[in-house]
Amino acid sequence: MKIEALVQLDLFSEAPPTREELRADQASLQALYDALAGAYRLPPARVELSSRRATGGVIQYGPPHVIRISSHMSSTDRRQTLLHETAHAICHDRWGVDEGHSSRFWEVAHELGVTRKTAPETDRLATIRARNARYTYRCVGCAGEWTRRSPFGRARLCAACEGKGRPSRLILVRRPKRAARRKG
Ligand SMILES: [Zn+2]
Ligand SMILES: [Zn+2]
Repeated sequence: MKIEALVQLDLFSEAPPTREELRADQASLQALYDALAGAYRLPPARVELSSRRATGGVIQYGPPHVIRISSHMSSTDRRQTLLHETAHAICHDRWGVDEGHSSRFWEVAHELGVTRKTAPETDRLATIRARNARYTYRCVGCAGEWTRRSPFGRARLCAACEGKGRPSRLILVRRPKRAARRKG
C-alpha cells in the first residue's frame, strides 16, 4: 500500500502550473473563444480551466455557455479542446442541442483546426484510472463476487464457502480496463 502511494505521487513529479499561469492561459482561451464567437456570431461563453477534470472538456449550453477545460493537459491540447467545444457551440447554434459528434460536427471541428478526435491521456487520468481499477473474483461454489485493487498472486479459496466446509475456488472474472477512453 505504501509503495503504491509512492508510485502515484511520482506521476506528479512535474511541477504543477502556478495560479498565475493558469489564469493567464484561461484568459487566452477566453480570448480565442471570443474571437471565434465574433466570427461565427455565437452567444457568449465563460471559459474555465478546471483542475477537477482529468482530461478533455465539456460545454454547458447557456446563454451564456460555460466551457470547462481540463488544466491537466498541455497548452496545445487545451487549445484543441477549446476549439472542439467551440465546434459544439456552432453546431448548437445551427442545428440544436442534439447534434453530438455527428459527421457535420467533425466538419465544423476540422474547419476550426481540430485535429484530435479523442481527449488526450493525462497523468491525472491515469492516476484516477489506477485508483478505480478493480479486479473482480467470483466463487465457483456460491457465485459470490469480490473486487480488489490488485490481483491475487495465487489461487484463492472463497472464505464463505470454506467456513461452511465446502472449499471453493475463486476465479478472476474481470480485470481493469486499461484502454477505456472517455469521449470529449
Ligand atoms: Zn463461495
Ligand atoms: Zn465533444
